[in-house]
Amino acid sequence: MLDDIFSDEKITEISRREIEDDKDFTEAFDSRHKFMKLAFEKAEEALTNLEVPVGCVFVYKNEIIGSGRNDVNVSRNPTRHAEMVAFEQILDYCKEHSLDSLEVFKETTLYVTLEPCMMCASALQQLQIPRIFFGASNERFGGIISVGNIKTYQENPPSMDIIAGIGTTFAVKLLKDFYKNTNMRAPIEKRIDKTVKNENNL
Ligand SMILES: [Zn+2]
Repeated sequence: MLDDIFSDEKITEISRREIEDDKDFTEAFDSRHKFMKLAFEKAEEALTNLEVPVGCVFVYKNEIIGSGRNDVNVSRNPTRHAEMVAFEQILDYCKEHSLDSLEVFKETTLYVTLEPCMMCASALQQLQIPRIFFGASNERFGGIISVGNIKTYQENPPSMDIIAGIGTTFAVKLLKDFYKNTNMRAPIEKRIDKTVKNENNL
C-alpha cells in the first residue's frame, strides 16, 4: 500500500512566500514523497499502537532531525501529538550538535500526514518553521485552514510555505481504520450504556 499512496496526488498551495529562485523549497518539494512516506510509516506505527494515526518528520539540510507519531493514549498526555514528540528530538539533536535550536527551526521543513491542530500550528508558527507539507485536511481540528486559519497570524506577504494534498487518500484511510477498530473494540456494555443515555436525554 505504501508504494501507491501518491498516485492520486492533488497538490494544494495554501501559502507561498515570495522568494525568487527558492532552491530550498524546490528541494523540499521534490523530496516530498520520500519524506512523507516516512511520516506515513510513523502514522502506521501509531495505528498499530492504538493511537490516532498521525506521523511526521522534520528535515533540516536534507537530514531527518526529528520524527514522531501520536502518543496520547499510552502516555495519557493529550499534548503528545506527533509534532510535539518530534520537537523533543530536535532539541536533543541541537544540543548534541551545539546548534541554536531557534536558528535550526527556521531552516526546517515539516512533513506531516494530517493538517496540524491549533496547538501544533501555533507552535510551528512561533518557531518560524518555513515550510509545511501535509496530507489530509483535519476538518474538525485543523489549525492551518480548517478550524484555525494560520494565515491570519502571518504577515503579508506570507511567512511560510504551506502545501497540502500529499497522500490525502491514504491519510484518511488510516484514520478510518483507526475509528473502525476503536468502535469494534468498545465493550458491548459501553455501547448499550450509550444508547440508554441517549434515550434519557430525549
Ligand atoms: Zn497537534
